Amino acid sequence: METFTRLESNVRLYCRKYPKVFTQARGATQLDEDGNSYVDFLSGAGALNYGHNEPRMRDAMINYLSGDGVILSLDMHSAAKRRFIAMFERLILTPRKLDYKMQFVGPTGTNAVEAAMKLARKVTGRRMIAAFTHGFHGMTLGSLAATGRGSSRRGAYTSLSDVIRLPYDGYFGPALNTMELIRKYLTDPSSGFEVPAAFLLESVQGEGGLNVASSRWFEELVDFAREIGSLVILDDVQAGCGRCGTFFSFEAMGAVPDMVCLSKSLSGSGLPMAMVLMRPDLDLWEPGEHTGTFRGNNLAFVSAATALECFWKDDTLQQQIAAKSDQIRKRLEAISARIPGSRVKGRGLFLGIDMGRPEGAAAVLAEAFARGLIIEVCGPHDEVLKLMPPLTISEPELAAGLSILEESITALELAKP
Ligand code: PMP
Repeated sequence: METFTRLESNVRLYCRKYPKVFTQARGATQLDEDGNSYVDFLSGAGALNYGHNEPRMRDAMINYLSGDGVILSLDMHSAAKRRFIAMFERLILTPRKLDYKMQFVGPTGTNAVEAAMKLARKVTGRRMIAAFTHGFHGMTLGSLAATGRGSSRRGAYTSLSDVIRLPYDGYFGPALNTMELIRKYLTDPSSGFEVPAAFLLESVQGEGGLNVASSRWFEELVDFAREIGSLVILDDVQAGCGRCGTFFSFEAMGAVPDMVCLSKSLSGSGLPMAMVLMRPDLDLWEPGEHTGTFRGNNLAFVSAATALECFWKDDTLQQQIAAKSDQIRKRLEAISARIPGSRVKGRGLFLGIDMGRPEGAAAVLAEAFARGLIIEVCGPHDEVLKLMPPLTISEPELAAGLSILEESITALELAKP
């Protein structure tokens, strides 16, 4: 531990919540160097939707390495990239009747968001991006300008500009449809709001507290964007790749975004990779206009293609997610019924309990970790316990994790008996 505290920057965060040294991981189970075992309900903040070291992905990567497969290729053509692109078209885009071109960007979520914002500005000739209350889009300055979280924004120490902030669905409670406000602001030429290049949003706000946009609201937003010549960028970095029950989080809704940002679980194995999907007519980039060294991470392409082949050939995984989602939601509803002022939030395997107060959630996180469960909190006050197990979590691991969660809440006397 001393090595870290003495030499690693104070900026480190997760290690303060889970203060152990981890050595191995498989599926939804992680081991520390003292031999303790943990059920993982954090899944690399959504980057390990298929669990740790999924054997087929791991073997595909080992084979590629042993065959001296090209690892870094900038954005040169590589066989591994071609295989991924073809697989993504065949297994993801075509069956969903989606027509998108793929842009590979520097391998983090924030870079996908930066690229999408830049392109939207270029295509429309407009400056403003409309982002939403409690939205989270990354830590580089463009994405940070679109991020709502005060503690992250304060760290910028420079201006975070060219973003207008609009109320997300439900921000003022269920009675007020925020689309009415948004429409009024953006159609009144003297409201002081500039018509934006794009609306940038998550369909479920992962860091912002598992707030779910309703289909109706999302459809209204997309229709309105078309009316005023703005684009819609869906940030599916955390909610995508199956987390909400379908590959894209918007599939259950009746509208299609103009651009989609993907990262986190796109490679499937936890290797960094990110991509922007865009309507083909929006692809007005000049060669190299948004570039980056690590856009050709071929090991990530290999595991990403394997993930698609293993999990998205048919709807088996989707059915499993739906069944697990029901199971977890029922259990959380029962727990929440015992905690005054709490409620269950989220959808798919992106579920949580709003504890109503941050101290409660923080105490559960610590107690659960001591008992062998890695679980995170989210929301504007860190008041929501967030369950993000691997989509492929086994029944025993899931049962163990849920039991630890319930036992922790009971031990802390946060719930009525
Ligand atoms: N968008 C969303 C919705 C995210 O949840 C995150 C990361 N939590 C990002 C963007 C940024 O991704 P990265 O940390 O890889 O830059």
